[in-house]
Amino acid sequence: MKKLIVGNFKMNTTVQEFSLYLDKFLPLIKNSKNMVALSLPYTHLMLASQKLVSTNVIMGCQNISTEEKGAYTGEVSNLMVKDLGAKFTLVGHSEIRKKFHETNEQINQKIIRALSVNLKSILCIGETKTEKNNNKTKQVLKKQIEIALKGLYENELKNIIIAYEPIWAIGTGKMPSVKEIEDNIAYLRKIILDIFSQKASEKIQILYGGSVNSNNFASILKSSQVDGLLVGGSCLDPFEFAKIVN
Ligand code: PEP
Repeated sequence: MKKLIVGNFKMNTTVQEFSLYLDKFLPLIKNSKNMVALSLPYTHLMLASQKLVSTNVIMGCQNISTEEKGAYTGEVSNLMVKDLGAKFTLVGHSEIRKKFHETNEQINQKIIRALSVNLKSILCIGETKTEKNNNKTKQVLKKQIEIALKGLYENELKNIIIAYEPIWAIGTGKMPSVKEIEDNIAYLRKIILDIFSQKASEKIQILYGGSVNSNNFASILKSSQVDGLLVGGSCLDPFEFAKIVN
């Protein structure tokens, strides 16, 4: 099965820099055997929607508001990103959870907003180093998933992708072993089984994210538990990211 490789640009590049990036990146990946997606700043969506037409790259954003419209200065809604052609949004990225105190309940609201306009959500979950050291990883993951997916019907899971991203591995150069990644992803499937069904637990796409680069990606992708990768820092260099995608 094809794997899904998602690049998360975070708050990097101007639109002009991003345009030059695409000029280098797109020719490198046009015959890629994997699926590739870019999670972009809102400011880049208009340009991307034009440059990515007739390419194999899926365009998405990094967050949406819990609200649809109104007096929410600075926010961007499900309808706005959908209108620009976004196919997915990240939801619950640890940087937003931590720096903007986003709660699991707000993440649930965002997922419901995304579903209402047929936008896929890449739900990011993961434990801190302290939680890991205190053997709390499973408990944390369970709570994050149970609240984020509260009220969803099983047939809506086709629009949900989970990204397992241990917080201590994001942007640090540190990583769990492949065995640890597999064990934790197997546990995530068990949670989906308990809430929904065996079929749902087998079908849901689960990605790994955290310090993936062109030297370490292959051993993770080899695992049948891992359906793809969420790549931050290493996606900003088109040549490095193309190595991972291809
Ligand atoms: C991320 O931003 O989701 C991420 C995984 O970042 P990095 O690859 O830089 O660790």
